Amino acid sequence: MNLPSDRNVALFDRAQKVIPGGVNSPVRAFRAVGGTPRFIQRAQGAYMWDANGQRYIDYIGSWGPMILGHGHPAVVEAVQRALLDGFSYGAPTERELELAEHILALMPSMDMVRLVSSGTEAAMSAIRLARGATGRSKFIKFEGCYHGHADSLLVRAGSGLATFGHPTSAGVPPEVAQHTLVLEYNNIEQLEQAFATQGSHIACLMMEPIGGNMNFVRASVAFVKRCRELCTQHGALLVFDEVMTGFRVAAGGAQSIYARAIPGFAPDITVMGKVIGGGMPLAAFGGKRAVMEHLAPLGPVYQAGTLSGNPVATACGLATLREVSRTGFYEDLSRKTRALISGLKQSAAAAGVPFCGDSEGGMMGFFIQATLPQNYRQVMQSDGKRFNQFFHGMLNRNVYLAPALFEAGFVSAAHTDQDIADTVAAAAEAFQGV
Ligand SMILES: *Cc1c(COP(=O)(O)O)cnc(C)c1O
Repeated sequence: MNLPSDRNVALFDRAQKVIPGGVNSPVRAFRAVGGTPRFIQRAQGAYMWDANGQRYIDYIGSWGPMILGHGHPAVVEAVQRALLDGFSYGAPTERELELAEHILALMPSMDMVRLVSSGTEAAMSAIRLARGATGRSKFIKFEGCYHGHADSLLVRAGSGLATFGHPTSAGVPPEVAQHTLVLEYNNIEQLEQAFATQGSHIACLMMEPIGGNMNFVRASVAFVKRCRELCTQHGALLVFDEVMTGFRVAAGGAQSIYARAIPGFAPDITVMGKVIGGGMPLAAFGGKRAVMEHLAPLGPVYQAGTLSGNPVATACGLATLREVSRTGFYEDLSRKTRALISGLKQSAAAAGVPFCGDSEGGMMGFFIQATLPQNYRQVMQSDGKRFNQFFHGMLNRNVYLAPALFEAGFVSAAHTDQDIADTVAAAAEAFQGV
């Protein structure tokens, strides 16, 4: 509801005069669902308060980082202590070393890791590293997977399999997109054809192991297994973009889940972000020593950053990772996320609305339809109008879901069973209007 005294409306009007679209990242503008974005004033635990002082149960969690909820006391204390010692030095610190060691202990596929400031930067650097390490230019990505906004990644599929991609953004020269081969997620046949025709030119295959930027779409075990085999066979590197799934679906990321199903499985390079910064600008990419040694100053692949390994961001990330490393953390988180999805399912069924959903750890997705999509094309076919009605029905009942059908949702350790029950009760009402 937009009341005349609504401060969200007033702030959004003001913001649109000085910030393009009134936001600093497009999805925040509510373009997909319509209406006025909420300007957030503060957050604590599982809740956020907007500029009108209205409280919401938060299922975005800053789009993934806030796995402990907002303002976890141990994290706040670590950040406060770090602040007093200075904001940035541009020189190495013991804390960034501790964070690197902690990450490597949780994800054994990596021997070395480099810290950066955003997922975009990490993914972009991982591709440069893969190209430098293999001496090849082309790479594979999948439709619906997002790896940040580097030029070569803002690309959609070309007209035929053997053709390379076209830019999806103005400002990206077609020549840049020509090295990117965009394939359909979970389509083994297409993957095999692509390697058969282009295999010797492919530096890497980059994928989200669970597609979280097309709502929630799992890569099948058979698909991941084939990706691994074909990369090995053709001398290409397998890059897992775990910016969203890393330390979110399990302590060891999605790769630990696939490694249980595929003996010996490991990606060559892992891209991380979101949870490892605990809400501060921090991301990373890492891999086996032989690959990582191509990076400057050891090797010829250049990569750098003024604020990389920032002492305050690393304090925040390290405190966050220490909390998620506690015994039973992911079991408890998974139980709550599953309870939410099954509760939503029941609410939808009671209202006669088709519904399906899936979750892993603290990451989830749902569709207002009977069956889960397997790729981006199927996600695009799902009913956006009904989703938008449900989204606003929930927002009006003070539950803040992702404002677009193409986004995953996030449950934090701060969500209580009561929060989940309140959300399910709100959904029972909201589904009546869908
Ligand atoms: C969020 C995200 C990115 C980009 O990270 P930023 O920090 O927003 O640049 C890259 N890959 C995946 C899978 C993501 O979810």
